[in-house]
Amino acid sequence: MKDLIIVGAGPAGFTAAIYGLRAKLDLFMLEKTGPGGQIALSDVIENYPGYSSISGLELMQKFEEHAKKFGLEIQSSEVTGVEDRGDYKLVKTTSGDIETKAVIICSGAKPRKLDVPGEKEFTGRGVSYCATCDGFFFKGKDVVTVGGGDTAVKESLFLTKMVNKVFLVHRRDALRAEKIIQEKALTSPKINIQWDAVVTEIKGNTKVEGVAIKNVKTGAEEVLPVQGIFIFVGIVPNTGFLNLVDKDEAGFVKVNKKMETNIPGIFAAGDCRDTPLRQVVTAVGDAAIAVTSAETYIERLK
Ligand code: NAP
Repeated sequence: MKDLIIVGAGPAGFTAAIYGLRAKLDLFMLEKTGPGGQIALSDVIENYPGYSSISGLELMQKFEEHAKKFGLEIQSSEVTGVEDRGDYKLVKTTSGDIETKAVIICSGAKPRKLDVPGEKEFTGRGVSYCATCDGFFFKGKDVVTVGGGDTAVKESLFLTKMVNKVFLVHRRDALRAEKIIQEKALTSPKINIQWDAVVTEIKGNTKVEGVAIKNVKTGAEEVLPVQGIFIFVGIVPNTGFLNLVDKDEAGFVKVNKKMETNIPGIFAAGDCRDTPLRQVVTAVGDAAIAVTSAETYIERLK
């Protein structure tokens, strides 16, 4: 039986691995899609101490190398459930079941959908959730971005490097993104902010040809003639496989200050937990606490 299984290979997962391996726990990591997590798609990170500017992918490669230096093994399989068997947990995966004393859930989150007509039909044909992945295909074209948070504003700025114009559609009259990046967006000649506006439909024949928006204050409607739309309206946690633990109404795992869930031996860290701030730096802190708590829990089992 393993001491610890870490679910997810993002910033929280790698930190948990580094701390766990240094504490000599017998552990391994399970990952569904590939190491790095959502942050690996981020063009540039400027708020992780020690790196004034680094791409998300490069930072995650450093995290992975660091964890592997201490002997981390990553198994590629999807976790489908975690069962509580008292003194041990059964982690159910697409490659079989694993018995472990403790589990740290670091499964992160994925982009939220807008749920408007045309979104599903045109995904991959003009609708995207990742500027770093797809921005290149819109070189010299006009695009819409949606949202007012850090992701929407940062990705809009990234897109200005290649597209002709970005219409940033936000449902309110103020952005919620960090002030420093807000300023850059507000002064960018390539970003045109559509305040108090919502997307009502994504139009086209075989690919996106326009985005219909409606002003929520005046009711005015128009169709922006764009070839792409990037949707950044928040995130939903990857916690659907977890039925045992308490979650909030949005599905984020509830934990206490020791990162303990309501089930002894199951811990959570990073974007998948209920937290007021989702950053690499907070995920890292969560994971260090979670491992320390897991160590204490495992010790008490003896
Ligand atoms: P977020 O902060 O939750 O922002 C989501 C944005 O989408 C908000 O502006 C929200 O509007 C808008 N929105 C939500 N649902 C909508 C809908 N149905 N229709 C239209 N607009 C909608 O999400 P995020 O930007 O993805 O960030 C997630 C977390 O990661 C945050 O904690 C963020 O700080 C963090 N993050 C940090 C960085 C960094 O470099 N520091 C980069 C990326 C993300 P309202 O403002 O009206 O609510």
